[in-house]
Amino acid sequence: MNDKPMTDGKTSAENTSATSALAGLSCHGGKEELQKAAAAAGKSEILNRYAEDYPLGPHDQPQSMCPAFGSLRVGLRMRRTATILSGSACCVYGLTFTSHFYGARRSVGYVPFNSETLVTGKLFEDIRDAVFKLADPEHYDTIVITNLCVPTASGVPLQLLPKEINGVRIIGIDVPGFGVPTHAEAKDILSGAMLKYAANEIRQGPVAAPRAGKTKLPTITLLGEMFPADPVVIGRLLEPMGLAVGPVVPVREWRELFAAFDCAAVAAIHPFYTASIREFESAGRKVVGSAPVGHDGTAEWLSAIGQAAGVSAEKIAAAQNAILPAIRGALSAKPIKGRITVSGYEGSELLVARLLVESGADVPYVGTACPKTQWSDADRHWLESRGVAINYRASLEDDVAAVLHFKPDLAIGTTPVVQKAKELSIPSLYFTNLISARPLMGPAGAGSLAEVINSAIGNKARFDKMSEFFDGVGRGPNAGVWEDVPRDHPEFRAKYQAMLAARAKAEESTAT
Ligand code: SF4
Repeated sequence: MNDKPMTDGKTSAENTSATSALAGLSCHGGKEELQKAAAAAGKSEILNRYAEDYPLGPHDQPQSMCPAFGSLRVGLRMRRTATILSGSACCVYGLTFTSHFYGARRSVGYVPFNSETLVTGKLFEDIRDAVFKLADPEHYDTIVITNLCVPTASGVPLQLLPKEINGVRIIGIDVPGFGVPTHAEAKDILSGAMLKYAANEIRQGPVAAPRAGKTKLPTITLLGEMFPADPVVIGRLLEPMGLAVGPVVPVREWRELFAAFDCAAVAAIHPFYTASIREFESAGRKVVGSAPVGHDGTAEWLSAIGQAAGVSAEKIAAAQNAILPAIRGALSAKPIKGRITVSGYEGSELLVARLLVESGADVPYVGTACPKTQWSDADRHWLESRGVAINYRASLEDDVAAVLHFKPDLAIGTTPVVQKAKELSIPSLYFTNLISARPLMGPAGAGSLAEVINSAIGNKARFDKMSEFFDGVGRGPNAGVWEDVPRDHPEFRAKYQAMLAARAKAEESTAT
């Protein structure tokens, strides 16, 4: 083997063994090594871009699922789109399992690797072959290929794939867990890459029209996944202003990307689509944050959208007058009484909190795994002026601490938050399955939350009864039914901690 120093000052043998060692790293450890390796392998530009688009802080990385699940799901939902993953088998197994658990009725392609194909560059050749084999225009418009952690850290150069094969578009993206904080933001990575590609196609000449034909009215493109009825409701809100609802990004079909650009303005319903917003802004489209939730949110949003689309003040007022009394009526007809903490990783946490507050709930805390961006500023100001504490990039510990501190009547949160709340006999609801899966916009949203929230709060007595029933069956190491109840040995753990600390100290003194 050639053992001359390489550009990073290391020999090829050193680089090869470093690349080979990456195969053993994962999101459970080795984040810094993966970051360093990716930078050395030529991925600095993309990692710097992600760091800018998806800023960290105050917490480094929220605890959530593998980020690649976000982009995988977006690709799997699109018509005539094939998805291929390149990564460690365990990661691909987990991602494939989860995507089928959530109803992907489509195969996920996989290009496996081993230490040899990783270090020799053969993996990229294998990916290239796989893409060529799959690129059949009879079946596909697009192939999305995703580098997971290890191939990204090894610098597998997806950007060198052909942009198109036999008329099939090829989109290569890097979605490493050490560079993308949440699965929500990975949806933006793929959507942004596809929008960029589509914008280039628009510049080249005529493109496909929307499947249902082009509406005569100027449209508003919606950014962010939402309950299927929400775009329909938003369409009705826009009617009095002479506007119609356009596509929802992430899209379900490639041609919707063209229609998404062909709009009067873009509504960033979810505030974390930074790369997608960049593409819309470079095409000269105005972007408006927040969403039509509750009375105040709908009034402000209609006004902002109307102004962005050049609608007259009279028409904006007409749209507001047509809907606001109905929203007020729906809110007062279905009040919510009780203290509620909200936490989640979907990006709609602040919108849900607004709706709860307008319904009469006391919401002291909102935690979101997503970052602070200007697109949620209106919601943040509205909530903060009502005394709600907002925690961006919230960690699980923060969310749990909020539940312990505020002792709510209901905790809305991610799985581990809900689990903790239930342990404390606090009624709780999963944000993703039970809150995100309901209409939130306009008058439909005003009443939809009340039913599920009030019935959950009403379950408090059942939680108390369950706690009473299970009282005495033990906790932690004693949980369960035993003939001889296990005795905890905290002294063992203390001993191991002391041994580990001594070993770390010894290693440190040897190294210096
Ligand atoms: S690809 Fe996902 S599951 Fe695999 S190591 Fe990276 S973050 Fe973890």
